[in-house]
Amino acid sequence: MSTIDEFRKEVRAWLEANCPPAMRTPTPEGALIFGGRKLSFQSDDQRLWFERMRDKGWFAPDWPAEYGGGGLSAEQTAVLEAEMRRLHCRPAQINLGIWMLGPVILEFGTEEQKQALLRPMTRGGIRWCQGFSEPNAGSDLASLKTSAVDQGDHFLVNGTKIWTSYGDKSDWMYALVRTDPAAPKHQGISLIVLDMQSPGITVTPIDLISGKSSFCQVFFDNVKVPKSQLIGPLHGGWTLAKALLQHERRAMSKFGEFSLPTHFDLMSLAERYLPPAGTAAPVDMALRARAVAMSMEEHSYTLTVQRMGEEMRARHNVSGLMSIMKLVHSEQEKDKFEILLDLMGHRALGWEGDEFTDQELALTKAWLGSFAQTIAGGSSEVQLNVIAKRVLELPEGKQSK
Ligand SMILES: Cc1cc2nc3c(=O)[nH]c(=O)nc-3n(C[C@H](O)[C@H](O)[C@H](O)COP(=O)(O)OP(=O)(O)OC[C@H]3O[C@@H](n4cnc5c(N)ncnc54)[C@H](O)[C@@H]3O)c2cc1C
Repeated sequence: MSTIDEFRKEVRAWLEANCPPAMRTPTPEGALIFGGRKLSFQSDDQRLWFERMRDKGWFAPDWPAEYGGGGLSAEQTAVLEAEMRRLHCRPAQINLGIWMLGPVILEFGTEEQKQALLRPMTRGGIRWCQGFSEPNAGSDLASLKTSAVDQGDHFLVNGTKIWTSYGDKSDWMYALVRTDPAAPKHQGISLIVLDMQSPGITVTPIDLISGKSSFCQVFFDNVKVPKSQLIGPLHGGWTLAKALLQHERRAMSKFGEFSLPTHFDLMSLAERYLPPAGTAAPVDMALRARAVAMSMEEHSYTLTVQRMGEEMRARHNVSGLMSIMKLVHSEQEKDKFEILLDLMGHRALGWEGDEFTDQELALTKAWLGSFAQTIAGGSSEVQLNVIAKRVLELPEGKQSK
């Protein structure tokens, strides 16, 4: 037996023994664990699963063990992910720090920053939010205006960030700030990290169409940020931002597939809501055919993610690939929800009340949320621009996120 086959056997046995059966079901609405100072659990099984994965170092399986990671190779990490998928294990923790900031710190941070910031992520101790977008800097992110003025041992930060997911629930933020207003816009930006408890920070939630607000606007009024919290070179933050966005798109391209097990299995919902095949009218047969075609596309996508995961490990510049995956997945999810709406009719449009099942009520919100995923992390149009530039190598137009 090859070493990797042995490893697979070990991982399988460990997961079987340590992932409680209740944690091998789709994650219900509101039951995701984000870690952080306000961490709380809804059940003992959830706590057990969190603690066991944490102690194994598998919140960040491919990070070095010295920073609290699992020390696995890329190949071993792929095996772990595949085995977790096979067993339908829930994600034990969702952490923007691990998905997005951590890999950037590993590449660009100082040794002190690695020691101070990575280990709390791998312990699930700090919840992170992303302070990139501003009221006039979304797709054109480099137009951001939030300023960080050098005051000797610290920066003084002023300005505002918008669409900050879970800004009100997070402990720390990683933010892009303008440190040199006189330089060309891509060259005057720096990446800093800051404690959301710092004096001068105000967080205001923004209401969403789905009825729940994960969005916030964050205001900075003379917020002091120690210079030691600058990540990478001063004014050199744009390179780090691009790297971080690649990690964001990679994480988003896995939503529903591994990171967030999907709640809405097309074929089982088709069975439940459509008349049986023998008695179905042509219109129902046509719908069933659309559901089958979409299920096949979903399956192809899952296989493609696995294949591209392997290919990405061998490449240095993967931003084009990440954009393709993010674009395809978020648009595919949107199409899937349209089919579910057609399948379930008015039952997919419930908002509240006893006449709808919990799953039906959750579907309405997930359908609305599917539009948001085509905007978060850079809109579909912006992904198409990146693909045109970095994959197809078409002549460059206007610079965008
Ligand atoms: C669910 C969700 C979560 C988010 N979480 C965060 C977060 O935690 N932190 C954070 O910083 N931001 C977050 N965002 C913000 C997100 O990054 C921005 O919404 C996104 O980058 C688009 O920016 P914008 O909203 O300003 O739209 P705009 O940039 O104003 O775009 C408006 C429209 O114009 C199109 N457009 C713009 N430029 C071009 C172009 N060059 N070519 C073609 N079309 C173009 C866009 O595709 C879009 O349709 C989140 C957004 C969503 C939806």
